[in-house]
Amino acid sequence: MRIDHLIGGKSVAGRDYFETVNPATQEVLAEVASGGEAEVNEAVAAAKAAFPQWSSLAAPERAKLVRKLGELITLNVAELAQTETNDTGQVIAQTGRQLVPRAADNFHYFAEMCVRVDGHTYPTPTHLNYTLFHPVGVCALISPWNVPFMTATWKVAPCLAFGNTAVLKMSELSPLTASRLGELALEAGIPPGVLNIVHGYGREAGEPLVRHPDVRAISFTGSTATGNRIVREAGLKKFSMELGGKSPFVVFEDADFERALDAAVFMIFSNNGERCTAGSRILVQKSIYAKFTERFVARAKKLAVGDPLDEKTLLGPMISQGHLAKVRGYIEQGQKEGATLLCGGLETPHLSGRVKKGNYVLPTVFADVDNRMKIAQEEIFGPVACLIPFDTEEDAVRLANDVAYGLSSYVFTENVGRAHRVAAAIEAGMCFVNSQNVRDLRQPFGGTKASGTGREGGTWSYEVFLEPKNVAVSL
Ligand code: NAD
Repeated sequence: MRIDHLIGGKSVAGRDYFETVNPATQEVLAEVASGGEAEVNEAVAAAKAAFPQWSSLAAPERAKLVRKLGELITLNVAELAQTETNDTGQVIAQTGRQLVPRAADNFHYFAEMCVRVDGHTYPTPTHLNYTLFHPVGVCALISPWNVPFMTATWKVAPCLAFGNTAVLKMSELSPLTASRLGELALEAGIPPGVLNIVHGYGREAGEPLVRHPDVRAISFTGSTATGNRIVREAGLKKFSMELGGKSPFVVFEDADFERALDAAVFMIFSNNGERCTAGSRILVQKSIYAKFTERFVARAKKLAVGDPLDEKTLLGPMISQGHLAKVRGYIEQGQKEGATLLCGGLETPHLSGRVKKGNYVLPTVFADVDNRMKIAQEEIFGPVACLIPFDTEEDAVRLANDVAYGLSSYVFTENVGRAHRVAAAIEAGMCFVNSQNVRDLRQPFGGTKASGTGREGGTWSYEVFLEPKNVAVSL
């Protein structure tokens, strides 16, 4: 199979192609067009040409088309989920029941919302001030590989619904479902040029896109290193940067133990541990630390590792051999640093059949981790949990904040006052109290410190995709 760029509504062949590989089987799934500056220039020109007509369409008309795209995704959930699972190794139970359906929800939600964009009025005795919200223009949307379809739609939906046009660049490791999204957008009646897709590597296709003078806004999700580079390259553009994380998961002795345990297991091992909001530093109060550790390890050992197309599998393969080597490198590092390895590690799972050559890591648990160790400070982005004991509430907050990142956080306690105190004190863009990460589309999603800047979701998406203008009329 060949995957080409989508530019101005037409499939455009690449001058070069790269392979995308199934990480469970190493089978080549497709040859994908590898774009560069020339394709980016064409795509931005197509998006710019489509902008006047698309942005001047009445919001309810745009909403109809955006909603239709959501409906087409819903009709194609099974096919999209299977493609996403093959391209990323994310297990079918999640792609089919959560990630792809949520992608459809993104279109329905922003279709509803775009008809409600309203301004503010500030009357004074001498002037009537009011605010208009205009679409920004051509937006660069750049997505990582971990949950690519959901992430791409989380950007494409508000971008298009608010009247902008887009050039989408997916990760070179997981381009397949977005390519289907481009086809479905045309099928929904979204005019050619409104959504363009250029495939390719970051430096070759991503960099000319973020530098392009006709690109007015950048919505980027990816690593902190790339985010920093883009901010330097982009010049004066609006942007939102959704970057890496090393989120604290704090369990106090008065927590609902079983609830905390369930959520802790889910937040580090779901999505194969390749999750920006993973609760990867599990801080547990000393009085319950031994019991929690024992139960956590028992749960980790029971997780079904295997074929991501099997409904019963909970943990699939790492996205690539390069990423597998990185995760294994951190496991070696943890052992060298003196953390106690309780399960998983460098042992490879005994799998047979079509997945025997997959990029697998067993669920890995390190206990007695010191928060200054590399495994506690750096984003591993794999199924590797670090258990860290703490004494007091002050201790917990200090450890939670002693990290470069600030994306998500989790606090488990039955003490209402403590829950609110700790939620306020933790340096993170999001805090979930007695809960795993539950995304509400109205919620401001994003991080602080090295986890990024800007928020997306609900009216927070105005920040990147709409330009406010004040009009002051003399009375
Ligand atoms: P990455 O930064 O390597 O790549 C992300 C995207 O940027 C890819 O499409 C890549 O091709 C492109 N890119 C790379 N270099 C570029 C450049 N110089 N200019 C423009 N584009 C460039 O990240 P990744 O490895 O694909 O994804 C994993 C990272 O994403 C993790 O750090 C994870 O935490 C983060 N992430 C964050 C969120 C969030 O919402 N905060 C969500 C998912 C993933």
